[in-house]
Amino acid sequence: MSLLIVKADWVITLNERGERLRDADILVRGPAIAAIGPGVGEKALSSGEPIDEVIDGRGKVVIPGLVNTHHHLYQTLTRNIPATQDIPLFPWLVKLYEVWRELDVEAVEVGALVGLGELLKTGCTTSTDHHYVFPRPGGRAAGSGPSDGPAAGGLIDAEIRAARRLGIRFHPTRGSMSLGRSQGGLPPDEVVQSEEDILADSRRLAETYHDPARYSMCRLALAPCSPFSVTTELLRRTVELARALGLRAHTHLAETKDEEKFCLDRFGCRPLEYMERLGWTGPDVWFAHAIHLNDDEVKRLGETGTGVGHCPSSNMKLSSGVCRGPELLAAGAAVGLGVDGSASNDSSDMWGEMRQAYLLSRLAHGDRGFRAEDVLRLATVGGARVLGRDDIGHLAEGMAADLVLIDLDQIGFAGGRHDPVAAIVASGDSHVVDTTIVDGRVVVRGGRLTEADEKDIVQRANRVSSEMLDRAARRTGTDYMQPSA
Ligand SMILES: [Zn+2]
Repeated sequence: MSLLIVKADWVITLNERGERLRDADILVRGPAIAAIGPGVGEKALSSGEPIDEVIDGRGKVVIPGLVNTHHHLYQTLTRNIPATQDIPLFPWLVKLYEVWRELDVEAVEVGALVGLGELLKTGCTTSTDHHYVFPRPGGRAAGSGPSDGPAAGGLIDAEIRAARRLGIRFHPTRGSMSLGRSQGGLPPDEVVQSEEDILADSRRLAETYHDPARYSMCRLALAPCSPFSVTTELLRRTVELARALGLRAHTHLAETKDEEKFCLDRFGCRPLEYMERLGWTGPDVWFAHAIHLNDDEVKRLGETGTGVGHCPSSNMKLSSGVCRGPELLAAGAAVGLGVDGSASNDSSDMWGEMRQAYLLSRLAHGDRGFRAEDVLRLATVGGARVLGRDDIGHLAEGMAADLVLIDLDQIGFAGGRHDPVAAIVASGDSHVVDTTIVDGRVVVRGGRLTEADEKDIVQRANRVSSEMLDRAARRTGTDYMQPSA
């Protein structure tokens, strides 16, 4: 399969020299960029080399595909529920755990189709997912019956199927919760699992799906949910297993003051120190949020090259706080962007997330705040570093053919084309993506998914979402249509 983009108005390479090419072409062979620059197309066409598809780049800007470093895809089915709106993280979680208890294989698959579909349509070509809710059959609590067995319902398998179907590069994480309410944790006992089941399933998934090769379309990471929903022992054993298997490790950290208080009360130290004691820093670890850090903690994350997934929309919606992004980057940490779960955003709009990151940083950090190109770098180069990939994130010969074309000839950009990067970050709207190419394949064309019927996804998602809410309402007696007090 080969593909040629000809005469793009701009190609924003984000390479080390920060080159922005004018009237440039990109030749793609198989999964990678074979050549890039002005004149490349003419040469390829006159050589007689068969080209499967030629895309007209006139009026368009081409950027590297965006990288989403944090998500909970299943939450696409539980967004905008009146009873869970506009409350902080802990009470928000307690209400939603009861709805998430209704997740099954179909829900996880259709939730992934929704979230990954929206990501592709908003320019994201590589996404992680953090799935940590594994409800026990029949609502049994952990330890009250036989083990669920290593398959744990096949939920991660279901989202990997969805990613393959849509054609997105995928970094699922095997999440986990092991500290139920009866042991002082936040989640109900019915959605937590035993350590042995979690670790056995982590190993199975790594052996089945993890591909460390260049241009890999699927890499697994291990991701206990948070300090307040897993045991100390599970955190320690998970990062050890991840390192033994050559996987990365991920969790939420320093998201709220409630979490800080939980750690101080229970472990006698702040969240980062707790994780450091357990071996949880380094270039193979990334944390979602990392908001409530003091100066010394910012420095320690920088020195260890630990990654941070900055999720501005979620942090604003849950009133969590503002990530010290510019300072973390300056200290040496890897910083990427994430949309976070759709119940706290409430969308999987990676393009919108860039704009949020830009505006929030201008407000919160003043002169030191991110500029438009810094934010585009977070969403590409930064995300690639967070995920430990040297084959995605910028455009050059030999890099993965993950490309996004935006049509600048639209009313949202009119009168504002003086700087193409500022234009795409701050102007237009989130759904201006014309074409998304992943691994050398066109997966969004004319703004629509090519590999799945969007209407079918919408109908299935609405049905499954209503069924989950109905079952949860019957079981708990909660009126989820009643706004939160
Ligand atoms: Zn999250």
